[in-house]
Amino acid sequence: MQAFPFQPIPTPLIFERSREGRPGTAVPKPIVARRAADVLPKGALAATPPDLPEVPEFEVVRHYIELSLKNHHVDRALYPLGSCTMKYNPKVNEDMARLPGFTGIHPMAPDEQVQGALALMYELSEWLKEICGMDAITLQPAAGAQGEMTGIFLIAAYHKSRGDTARNVVIIPDSAHGTNPATSALAGFTVRGIKSGPDGLTDLVALKAALGPDVVALMLTNPSTIGRFETQVVEIAKLVHDAGALLYMDGANMNALIGIAKPGDFGVDAMHLNLHKTFSTPHGGGGPGSGPVAVKKFLEPFLPVPIIHKEKDGRYRREWARPQSIGKLHGYLGNFGVLVRAYTYITRLGREGIKHTAEGAVLNANYLAARIESKYPMPYGRGMHECVADGSRFKEFGVKTLDIAKRLLEFGFHAPTVYFPLIVHEALMIEPTETATKDELDRFADTMLQIAGEAETSPELLTGAPRNTPVSRFDEAAAARSPNVRWKR
Ligand SMILES: *Cc1c(COP(=O)(O)O)cnc(C)c1O
Repeated sequence: MQAFPFQPIPTPLIFERSREGRPGTAVPKPIVARRAADVLPKGALAATPPDLPEVPEFEVVRHYIELSLKNHHVDRALYPLGSCTMKYNPKVNEDMARLPGFTGIHPMAPDEQVQGALALMYELSEWLKEICGMDAITLQPAAGAQGEMTGIFLIAAYHKSRGDTARNVVIIPDSAHGTNPATSALAGFTVRGIKSGPDGLTDLVALKAALGPDVVALMLTNPSTIGRFETQVVEIAKLVHDAGALLYMDGANMNALIGIAKPGDFGVDAMHLNLHKTFSTPHGGGGPGSGPVAVKKFLEPFLPVPIIHKEKDGRYRREWARPQSIGKLHGYLGNFGVLVRAYTYITRLGREGIKHTAEGAVLNANYLAARIESKYPMPYGRGMHECVADGSRFKEFGVKTLDIAKRLLEFGFHAPTVYFPLIVHEALMIEPTETATKDELDRFADTMLQIAGEAETSPELLTGAPRNTPVSRFDEAAAARSPNVRWKR
């Protein structure tokens, strides 16, 4: 396996391509000629023209192609970033989300003028309820984390409606996603952590000890961040319910379960989905997401408003009169473009395709685990849609998991998630998703095995990586906190 030969060629970026007097566009002449200075208030006119690059269209396109090559993305190669479900996003989703009939809608247009958009959201809701085995849903939350917060608010409102006001604790296993404790704490609840058992699953003894009359809910990531399904989830739900609490499921990992198992059937009261992950919207750049929350019937009165209601005559309307609603979470009806993509994705897959997606995700992760586990031991065994390896055996050669991740970049792969979940030392969390061919999985596995060999014989290959990327190692914390994204002359 050869390291990716790509050496970035220093091509000019857009401001460097700019030449005075060579613009690519012209502002149309106003129909009614009037000097801006005559109609705008004093001080509203800029003293100098904006410092924009003057470039023709093809230079703009080349600029963006050039930028896209400086980065790794799902349209280039495998992106096995664990927990993030970086599957290929079908381009037809984009075509649908860009239909002028959708993009041109004003969110305050009256119901009778937007029947198509309301129908799309209604039908999508029905399908998602079916996939989850739930009775009601809100499409409003803008991300998985906001879905978690919504779910906890719904559950708290339910307890309060019954006069049960003493509950303020959310139990969270240590195999949960990091957003679970973060959102619970931000929403004003106390987080009570419980340790997983030796198999990485929820320890029922620890759960029993943590349950009590102060508990609002157990928040369970299932499959968990080690990629394992909670096999005792029915028993877990019973224990939680017997204590008067509810079971919330973080369903961001539903790519492993869609079409195969319904959380509503195994005792979950409320859960969120990550449409941008499981149902294929480009994500990872902080763009719009969607984290619908599906609930059982008894939680329906508390859902955020408005709810889309289908009348007997087949017309749709937004329903606001819900006295027990927790209110609104997002402007209008959520991130509509993501809903269009999810609708398109589900329509194309159909019932069989949905199931096939989950089967493919699980098969791919297990195939990969089987191919690399001789060199990358998996302390909790093979999982479902992702596998988590422990890289601590490389420490004796002076190699850390981070070095393995950096070396992978030189072969044109995105790195897996590293140092998460916390319950695995030197964790490498790998999620290939269903949209990886066997050839690509083999190329990735061969590369991983080669890197394991290099770690033992020539560790400097790893510790000095990456060498063929536009930038090598940098202070990632500083890059995230104070990014320098501005071109300066
Ligand atoms: C991604 C993820 C989340 C958070 O979702 P966001 O949309 O990023 O807020 C929560 N739980 C799990 C298991 C995830 O993978």
